[in-house]
Amino acid sequence: MSKQFVKKITSMEEDFAQWYTDVVTKAKLIDYSSVRGSMIIRPYGYEIWENIKSELDTKIKETGHENVYMPLFIPESLLQKEKDHIEGFAPEVAWVTHGGQEELQERLCVRPTSEVIFAEHYKNIIHSYRDLPKLYNQWSNVVRWEKTTRPFLRTLEFLWQEGHTCHETETEAINEAEKMLTIYSSICTELLAIPVIKGEKTEKEKFAGAKITYTVESLMHDGKALQTATSHFLGDGFAKAFGIEFLDRNGKQQSVHQTSWGFTTRVIGAMIMVHGDNRGLVIPPKVAPTQVVIIPIAQHKEGVLDQAYSLEKRLSKQVRINIDASDKQPGWKFNEYEMQGVPIRLEIGPKDIAADQVVLVRRDTGEKLTISLNDVESKTLEILSTIQDNLYMKASKRMAEKTTSVTNMQGFQEALQIESRLVKAMWCGNTSCEDLIKEKTGATSRCIPYEQESISDKCVYCGRKADKMVYWAKAY
Ligand code: AMP
Repeated sequence: MSKQFVKKITSMEEDFAQWYTDVVTKAKLIDYSSVRGSMIIRPYGYEIWENIKSELDTKIKETGHENVYMPLFIPESLLQKEKDHIEGFAPEVAWVTHGGQEELQERLCVRPTSEVIFAEHYKNIIHSYRDLPKLYNQWSNVVRWEKTTRPFLRTLEFLWQEGHTCHETETEAINEAEKMLTIYSSICTELLAIPVIKGEKTEKEKFAGAKITYTVESLMHDGKALQTATSHFLGDGFAKAFGIEFLDRNGKQQSVHQTSWGFTTRVIGAMIMVHGDNRGLVIPPKVAPTQVVIIPIAQHKEGVLDQAYSLEKRLSKQVRINIDASDKQPGWKFNEYEMQGVPIRLEIGPKDIAADQVVLVRRDTGEKLTISLNDVESKTLEILSTIQDNLYMKASKRMAEKTTSVTNMQGFQEALQIESRLVKAMWCGNTSCEDLIKEKTGATSRCIPYEQESISDKCVYCGRKADKMVYWAKAY
């Protein structure tokens, strides 16, 4: 392919952060807005979100949840009702102080999350065990005044779904929080081809107001981890603060047990950082807005465009397909759709037509195949599925290669010296050791995984008895 067409992006080895910025803008996913940390999600980026949303929404509904919509503003007094919650969120809250020219009597916060709004509503609509469980979800935007921001990964305003549920018993609520984590995990692995580690957050890292925070963590190309989605068992903290009570099966007044869980546009950042390469985006077929692009070759020659459109018509019944019949050079088009991460490119020109074939190029491997026109539907579907599997396998392999087990701090520091990695180490459960590990290595605890291993019986930091294996990493 001619070099003149290559749109320059910084290589990931040279500067990973700049590579990411180049990809999100040049692949037309976003544009920057004039407000720091806010982004304009362009049609190509938004369509990826819509594909994820549609799949997740189906799973949320299949598991008995109903969608609702809550207001954007929260009165200050309401936010302050649950002490841990307000303490955790206060530094990130944006406040509305005026309506037009007039100063408001009470400040309104722009929701950073909606636990308290749901709690206020639940107090009004839950009275008896017959009203439970209450399984609500909302798709919305939220605002968190983040200090450092990066498109998709950490923005001031982001899109998400937030589930909020109420249950009769603690066990039921814990099961719900775990069930939703499993759904998040399957969206990551099956839809986005992102391998994840499932586990619990430590006390220090859990959500403000939660008893247990469950998380799915993933590993980016540069060896940094990302908290990809979280699900919380809230216990009865909000219920007590807001008086969400019900008459139980024995006629006794009880507080409900709650959960909340959220999945955001951050996951698009994860997808880019897990699968992308030095030619740009690589989108897993299941979420790709365009799964196949047709590039006619020598399209001015007789019959080429007719054949290309007829191919598009045939395939459009099965896949999301586009044809680029613009007057740009094929080489330019190849690069453009590679940059946009379209999983399959089909090239069709006079020679192919004469031989009853098309040329198929895989975005993930660059492999070129010649396919008989007769088989084009079945082969395209088969290769899309192979690409989806290959992306997951490649990412899993990389994650395994970038994971190191250590038993002492020297090993810990060495593991992170040359490049960022995921580190497995035993931990005694003390927050002070967690703080000191961060101070010494820059790594935070990512999670206490469900799948435990006994690497040793001593805490990697203090040497005291330890029975928890924890994943640590530098993180986004
Ligand atoms: P939380 O309600 O704090 O548990 O947040 C739910 C999920 O939202 C987290 O697990 C992150 O994956 C994601 N998230 C948190 N902050 C941001 C942000 N500023 N931008 C995008 N996603 C975020």
